[in-house]
Amino acid sequence: MTPPASSAGAVRTVPCPRCGAPARFAPDNRWRPFCSERCKVIDLGAWAAERYRVAVAETPDPGHDTAAD
Ligand SMILES: [Zn+2]
Repeated sequence: MTPPASSAGAVRTVPCPRCGAPARFAPDNRWRPFCSERCKVIDLGAWAAERYRVAVAETPDPGHDTAAD
């Protein structure tokens, strides 16, 4: 049994989760599955921000109803 579409030397690429550009899914791409450092940093930054917002939203704060005026 030989796996289909397996050419030697061909590098598998995956769509960058950030920008959709083809990213080399190979050991020499240290930013995989992202296409570049920039995309990885941006995505991790968004993740951190999202986690922070979720954590804040889940914190019960009954005495914080004073709207800034
Ligand atoms: Zn990208």
